[in-house]
Formats: sequence, structure tokens, C-alpha cells
Amino acid sequence: MSTQEPIPVHASDLAAQPNDSQETVIQVQDIHKIYDLGETQVHALRGVSLQIRRGEFVAIMGASGSGKSTFMNILGCLDKPSSGRYLLEETNVAQLDKKQLAAIRNRKIGFVFQGFNLLARTTALENTELPTLYARIDKVERRRRALEALKMVGLGERTDHFPSQLSGGQQQRVAIARALVNRPSILLADEPTGNLDSRTSVELMEIFQSLNDRGLTIILVTHEHDIAEFAKRSIVFRDGKIRRDEPIANRAVAREVLKTLPVLED
Ligand code: ADP
Ligand code: MG
Repeated sequence: MSTQEPIPVHASDLAAQPNDSQETVIQVQDIHKIYDLGETQVHALRGVSLQIRRGEFVAIMGASGSGKSTFMNILGCLDKPSSGRYLLEETNVAQLDKKQLAAIRNRKIGFVFQGFNLLARTTALENTELPTLYARIDKVERRRRALEALKMVGLGERTDHFPSQLSGGQQQRVAIARALVNRPSILLADEPTGNLDSRTSVELMEIFQSLNDRGLTIILVTHEHDIAEFAKRSIVFRDGKIRRDEPIANRAVAREVLKTLPVLED
């Protein structure tokens, strides 16, 4: 059953995101990542350089094992490159220790994964609120922000539901709300539609496009071409290198595509 609420489009819902297309949010220079497995080493990234400006919507594609997740984990400050430079806004991430990495991650990055990674015995609202526990804000304000984030993904009515009471698409929307609650500069999503049927995937892309329209910078890993078409720029990885990097010419509009897809009844 699809209980789609309209996606709110009030600019005030989202933290003020200056939408100056000249402003560089991510600057990566000659990044290498070598996983040391004792006996062997895996050279997962072999000299990756790129820039991403505020307000971009980038799709990252490439075969399995080409280094996409390794790259996303570095962008998301979950891991550090073995060598090379990574500037996130003004911060040189390569110089940070673990604690500083966690702090910058919590403040600047929202992460959405393929498995929704929600806490099972915790409501949608509480799941969304979790990342705010590390920010120094009071309880009332935390709750207000969590509700605001849930409304942004069209889930304002289901705040007291547990994950098991929500469909896959709704769970992924809670995960997006949770990723947005600290008002990050960048949303990173690694195969977020990997567990979803095609209509639900496009519904998710509608949310991504609406967030991007409001200025949020989004980087999305997908192996599905029709999902990548909703982005503005596509980057293809191969063997740990960028193989192609180009604007998407005929960008698909999720709202329009949804009109052509049947609503499945179950
Ligand atoms: P993708 O997301 O494109 O499938 P990954 O970034 O997951 O690619 O993997 C790139 C390469 O690095 C692969 O050869 C993979 O086996 C290896 N790899 C990824 N993560 C680890 C890890 N934690 N330890 C060792 N090798 C890894
Ligand atoms: Mg991967």
C-alpha cells in the first residue's frame, strides 16, 4: 500500500543552504586507499580527484568492487584515505583524528545506506532524533527538528510507528529524515534503492530531487542507470579510478516518471 503524502516544498523547512554554484563543498585530490590485509594489500582507490560544488546532485556508478563504497566512506568521514587530500568545505579531513572525524561527520554529513539501519524497538521519531543526541541542543528543540525532518520526507503522520510497522520505502524515508536532522551540508547515499521496488525507488528519488531543489548537495551511489538519470552529474568508477565524469543531459524528473508507473496493490 502506498500512502504517499505530498512532499512539502517550503524553503524554510531546510536549514538555510546558500545555493551559490561556485562554492566548492568537496575537493578531493589524488586519493589512494590501500586496505592492508597482512599477506596482501587491496588497492581500492588509485588516484581519485574531483570537485563537487554546493547544490550538485551526483550519481556514482561502476561495477561491483570498483571502489564506490570506499570512496563514499572517505567522503563521509567514516574512513581516511591512505594518501591524497580531502577538503570538506574548509576542513582538511586527512589531518583529523578519530574523534574529530566523528564530530565533523555528525555536523556536516548525512548518510543513507541500502539496509535502512534503523533501531527496531525505537519509533520513527526516536530514530530520527538519534543524531541530535550528540549535538548540544535541548530536548524540545531536538524533537522539533526530528518532526521537521520527518515532515520533509512526507512522514509527518507516522512518527510513533516502529520500523516493523512501516514499508521498506517508509523505513528508508525515516533513514533520510535521520540523515537530515542535523542539517548537514551533504547527503551521501550508498545504494539507497537497493532493497526497494521500482516505484518506491522513484518515490525516493522524488524526495532526493526535492531536497536537491532546495539546495542540498547529494551524492548517490547506484548501479541502476534509470536511478542515476535523476541526478545532474554522473561519475563512473572503474578499478579504483574515475573513468567518466559528465553532466546528465536529459535528466529524469521523478514527479513526472511516477505518473507513468502503476501503483501496485498488495
Ligand atoms: P564497490 O562499492 O564499488 O563495490 P568497494 O569500495 O566496496 O567497491 O571495494 C573496492 C575494493 O576494495 C574491492 O576489491 C573490495 O574487495 C575491497 N575492499 C572494500 N572494503 C574493504 C575492507 N574493509 N577490507 C579489505 N578490502 C576491502
Ligand atoms: Mg559498494
